[in-house]
Amino acid sequence: MTCTDFLSKLTDYFDGQISSELLEEVRAHTAGCRHCEVVLSTTRQTIQVYRDNELYDLSTEFQERLHTAVMARCRMK
Ligand SMILES: [Zn+2]
Repeated sequence: MTCTDFLSKLTDYFDGQISSELLEEVRAHTAGCRHCEVVLSTTRQTIQVYRDNELYDLSTEFQERLHTAVMARCRMK
């Protein structure tokens, strides 16, 4: 799994719409990729805040901002 793959599965992961195989891949990737591990924990915290405010919504804009921020960090092509 690459960082791009990870990001494309991130919303599925939090929606619980992810297969056990992919879940294992996500876990394996975040175990070896500090950037994505940070993204995962940050997203989890963000979602928690949104839920607390009853504004939970993984909007497209949010996903795009997240994607841009992570790709800038990872410097992946
Ligand atoms: Zn990664």
